[in-house]
Amino acid sequence: MTYQQRAHLWLSCIQQGFVALLPVLFLGALALTFVQIPQYYPGLESHIVFNIASFVVSSSYGFISLFLVASISYQLADHHIQRLDLSMTPFMMAIMSLMTLVIMLYMSKAPQASLSFGFEHIIHAVVVGIIFTEAFVLFLRFYSIRFSYLEHEINGQLSTAIRMIVPSVIVPVLMIVVYYFVFMDSAYIETVTLWVIGPVNAQEGLSGWQSVKVILINQLAWFVGIHGSSLIATVSDVLFTTVNVDNFNGEMISHFAYLGGSGCTLGLVMTLFFSRRKSNRHFAKYAIIPSLFNINELVIFGLPIVLNRFLLFPFLLIPILAIGITYLSVSLGLLEFTNHNVVWSMPFLLGGYLLTEHWSGAILQLVICVISGLVYWPFLKRYEVHQNQQQAEKIKGLITQLSDDQCDMKTALKAPGELGIFCRRIAKDLASTEHLELYYQPKVNSLGKVEGAEALLRWDHPVYGCLPPSLFIPIAEACGQIHTLGMWVIERSLKDMGIMDRSYGFTGIPFAINVSPLQFNRDDFFNDVKACINRYGVDPKRIELEITEGQRLFFTDKLVSDLGQLTNMGVRIAVDDFGMGHTSLHYLRSFPVHGLKIDGDIIKDVVDSAIIQEIVQSMVHLAHGMGAVLIAEWVEQQAQLDMLHSLGCDQYQGAHFSMPMPLPQLVAYCVKHQK
Ligand code: C2E
Ligand code: MG
Ligand code: MG
Repeated sequence: MTYQQRAHLWLSCIQQGFVALLPVLFLGALALTFVQIPQYYPGLESHIVFNIASFVVSSSYGFISLFLVASISYQLADHHIQRLDLSMTPFMMAIMSLMTLVIMLYMSKAPQASLSFGFEHIIHAVVVGIIFTEAFVLFLRFYSIRFSYLEHEINGQLSTAIRMIVPSVIVPVLMIVVYYFVFMDSAYIETVTLWVIGPVNAQEGLSGWQSVKVILINQLAWFVGIHGSSLIATVSDVLFTTVNVDNFNGEMISHFAYLGGSGCTLGLVMTLFFSRRKSNRHFAKYAIIPSLFNINELVIFGLPIVLNRFLLFPFLLIPILAIGITYLSVSLGLLEFTNHNVVWSMPFLLGGYLLTEHWSGAILQLVICVISGLVYWPFLKRYEVHQNQQQAEKIKGLITQLSDDQCDMKTALKAPGELGIFCRRIAKDLASTEHLELYYQPKVNSLGKVEGAEALLRWDHPVYGCLPPSLFIPIAEACGQIHTLGMWVIERSLKDMGIMDRSYGFTGIPFAINVSPLQFNRDDFFNDVKACINRYGVDPKRIELEITEGQRLFFTDKLVSDLGQLTNMGVRIAVDDFGMGHTSLHYLRSFPVHGLKIDGDIIKDVVDSAIIQEIVQSMVHLAHGMGAVLIAEWVEQQAQLDMLHSLGCDQYQGAHFSMPMPLPQLVAYCVKHQK
């Protein structure tokens, strides 16, 4: 693994850790918003509801660092375990890194300290989660050599536990010792922060440049996932000693520069409502409530802003712009800070109004919010393009994975992680036929004249775009939706046949309809098909059911008799993809077959391979021997057509003639290539 790959892995584990925190953050943000209410209705503080809300705040926000260390360690461990094929569960490593962090934090706190491992320790959580897991895996890999005697131990749990003893002792102890002697009492964060900001004049407070530095430190901290406000709070008694209206005081920064918590994110949340991405618009609905109270964790970690290179620039720039506008407004006498006892969580507009005891404060907040939204907009657009690209790539990868012949859809449907989620989503969405469409591919004779058309399903999924049938048909088969889906296809094909006859004056063009063998398992299937034929008044001789071989067909006496009834009515039966599966010959023995469709994979090599030519020729004999038609699909070149024709094939289908197309185009094609 290169350094770059490792850094990338760490970043993605940190990001995934923050994403996993979202539910906790949401709970905490809502509870914290709720806890603010008694400030406007004094006397309510002691009410049981607010007590409960405070507990929720401490049990969610208070444990943020613990959730994070466990989550980062779990993700990283899981990756290494799979990569190195280590026999252990990531769960143990997550618990052990969590334990190490708790010990460190307890060591650094006074005995009376409350049980809070909240935001201020996020940086500890990230560092501990990564160092602990990496060190643990390192030990496990190299120390395992000594446990060769466990190689044949059947009890996997015991052997893993023994292997883990040494790293479980050494890694936490080493980390705790280093922390104790090097970092614990060093107050390095406060020292570095104050050094960057520089000495603050006790009478005049922060200078303009210093307030920019305070904002930048706050923003950069948030950007890397550290609770910026808590960081600044560690040095707030030095920074905000004086309350001077002409200067850059704490209220001015929190109510005008941060607006929404930090980075003027309230404007960003408002902008999200106009996003083209549904998920972003949806997210804005959740993020807006805490944002109005200047609680921004949800948007920072949820959108996310953390480590998001697309939003870094406006996130740093806008609060500086906002403080500049505020300072200018004060200097020009447009507003005056008259009240300095307004808490940071006072809602948007109300905060501005109370600070100035005038509408001008609220109006300025509104102006800043609009400006920040406008500045965020182009950056958000670029980020959305990136989000779309990422999603498209991910979906492409999942489709490739699932379209593999070896993929077992039943297992995939139950799989954890993205693959399973994607499959289940598709299975659920298949319940609606709203975005389904039928395309038709012409079947022609050797002269290119149309002799029929095959109906092929198309699904333009509203979120994932066009999905191939090779993906969703097996999912429909695995989840049982194939029955309704299959009937929809039959019904629509018969309806289209009627439309074609009536509107365009083509009568007699047969349609081939793909049918999964699983559809035959439904008792009602044959009756439904018959009812459908009657309903649309279609001549059964124009219907050809193409049985695909994706699923095994089990022959029973009932099935043979039901199929017989359909064929007696005139419906034709064809075996699709003939030649590659193992059940094909069995089909031919069990019921009358009117058409054999050579698998496209065979056709690909028909020009160059003498063996394939022999195979096709024997298929010609077989088909003609039983009175069936031999159809070649995936014909892409003239040379293939010539060869197949010389071998004796009857019908052809493929890109050489036309790819599948909507009904009106099929009609146009038929006009051009009339029978
Ligand atoms: P299939 O029935 O063998 O359909 C032929 C597939 O080959 C179609 O893919 C068609 O678009 C594609 N094709 C046509 N000409 C060429 C060519 O020249 N070269 C190449 N490489 N491919 C060509 P499509 O539409 O993606 O369908 C894939 C499979 O999904 C179908 O294979 C069929 O098994 C299944 N399917 C499609 N629609 C339905 C349906 O309504 N019901 C059922 N049960 N299965 C369906
Ligand atoms: Mg077919
Ligand atoms: Mg086929």
